Amino acid sequence: MAGLAAGCALAEAGFRVTLFERRPYLGGRASSYQHPGTGEIVDNCQHVLLGCCTNLLDFYRRTGVQDKIRWYEKLTFLEPGGRASVIAPSWLPAPLHTAPAFLRADCLSLRDKMAISRAMVALAPSIPADEGETFLDWLKRHGQTAQAIERFWKTILVSALNEDLDRVSVPYAAQVVRESFLKSAAAGRMGIPTVPLTELYGAAGDYIRARGGEIQFRAGVESFRSEVFGVNVTTNGQEQKFDYLVLAVPFDGVARMLPDTPSAAPLAAALGQFSTSPITGIHLWFDRQISNLDHAVLLDRTIQWMFHKSRLIDARNAEAGNHEARNPDTREDDAGGNGSYVELVVSCSRSLVEKSKTEIVDLAMKEAHEFFPGAREAKLLKSIVIKEVHATYSPRPGIDQHRPKPDTVWPRVFLAGDWTATGWPATMEGAVRSGYLAAEAVARFASGKRASFLVSDLAPSGLMKLFG
Ligand SMILES: Cc1cc2nc3c(=O)[nH]c(=O)nc-3n(C[C@H](O)[C@H](O)[C@H](O)COP(=O)(O)OP(=O)(O)OC[C@H]3O[C@@H](n4cnc5c(N)ncnc54)[C@H](O)[C@@H]3O)c2cc1C
Repeated sequence: MAGLAAGCALAEAGFRVTLFERRPYLGGRASSYQHPGTGEIVDNCQHVLLGCCTNLLDFYRRTGVQDKIRWYEKLTFLEPGGRASVIAPSWLPAPLHTAPAFLRADCLSLRDKMAISRAMVALAPSIPADEGETFLDWLKRHGQTAQAIERFWKTILVSALNEDLDRVSVPYAAQVVRESFLKSAAAGRMGIPTVPLTELYGAAGDYIRARGGEIQFRAGVESFRSEVFGVNVTTNGQEQKFDYLVLAVPFDGVARMLPDTPSAAPLAAALGQFSTSPITGIHLWFDRQISNLDHAVLLDRTIQWMFHKSRLIDARNAEAGNHEARNPDTREDDAGGNGSYVELVVSCSRSLVEKSKTEIVDLAMKEAHEFFPGAREAKLLKSIVIKEVHATYSPRPGIDQHRPKPDTVWPRVFLAGDWTATGWPATMEGAVRSGYLAAEAVARFASGKRASFLVSDLAPSGLMKLFG
């Protein structure tokens, strides 16, 4: 996404872009493919975005896919046994907009709610600096109850940051909380793509081609050589010359391409500071419906989210006019035939990395039976487990100082990727921001003038305006 965002912005600015992609499809860590064992088109994992992802939304508008996102105002938190607490915005001004739903939520006690409110008051005015403290220690210092940590903070932050709270830095956590819960109702609404991810991001390839650019698949870049008037890039053993190079690969990919020279040493040392955390997606096909929800947050167990993929696909068909359009919050009948397809997601899934597919499916089924009584009667028709072992970099305390800006010691070589210095954690928004920042740096170097691709954040609303 970082490479696609940089490529689209530069193609629009008049550059002729060649994009090298090692795989035979676009999207990188946000992609879909036909699973060889089942023949199903699956996303590598469900990807969601929030209303505050302004650059991602700009990228969708640019590439004409903004209507392929379905928006949800409500989040349903399910306890084992199936009791639901729904968090949705009210008419109250931010940051109080979710307070009524939050006060009604059965999954938290009054003591938990009071503790969470105190922490929210501390986070509302500004994002604290990174002083080496983990967010878990910050929460304990701010009097959070064990249940508030487990059912609220962990639930929200482990899925947003893909890391355990005892490894997350305070500013990363504070940013997620401010954007998704405090700033405005618009910033916190959740978007879910209604088409497979490679279809969503394939549009960016068309955008580049339509502006004179080229996409080369199965083209792994092996190394680069920077010169005064250009950059030589070696792909599949062949060297080609370009004016500029944006390296939009994960941090370990950059490390493998760096020349063995003293000038590369500081970047190599910074790259050595990064570590990663896994995400596991468990795709299950049943012979019947197991829930009438489109998605749900699952508390107290290994599985953390349920995405009801067949309902999301059905909603897409309804929007396209193939079915009568129905409100996603009130649809109760079946979705796309009698069977159903759900994806269960486990972020920061270190405990699953060594487990076999059978062990993971058995665990997921056992837990699904607790949340969705309908699943007990249902027959599991097929399943896929996708482990992304190096899903995202760990947003641990101190890591921000190692995230590089787009400019490098080689004037015509630039960096992009969700791990570079964007101010955002490893997300699609972070990746697009990094691509736009790299495009700005290329355009600035090429023309000597300031270029602007990055779009501004959503303005705070209600009482949050007081804090700017
Ligand atoms: C399982 C999972 C779930 C996620 N869920 C969410 C979510 O819900 N919401 C969200 O916002 N974010 C989510 N993310 C994070 C998001 O997917 C990433 O932050 C984002 O896609 C990173 O984009 P990128 O362009 O920086 O990197 P990548 O997607 O890794 O792109 C790098 C590209 O470079 C290619 N490449 C690598 N080496 C070479 C080479 N030598 N030559 C040529 N090409 C090369 C790769 O094939 C890839 O296409 C998730 C990530 C994972 C893995």
